[in-house]
Amino acid sequence: MPEKEKFEKVCPKCGSTDIRADGDFISVWDYCGSCGSKPPMGFMSFPEFPSKKIKSVQKEIRKKKGK
Ligand SMILES: [Zn+2]
Repeated sequence: MPEKEKFEKVCPKCGSTDIRADGDFISVWDYCGSCGSKPPMGFMSFPEFPSKKIKSVQKEIRKKKGK
């Protein structure tokens, strides 16, 4: 049986997986519970990554931040 892959949303700014939902009566969008950033214009949600890859994704984000 193939293992079902779990996906998690990651904040592209800080790498947090503490993604929450915000919205009004028309639409709902994601925002980061850690840094408060929202998806880029035209997007309603943050990118999703397989749970297994979350750590390396976060590492990449932190590397970029360090520059
Ligand atoms: Zn964030």
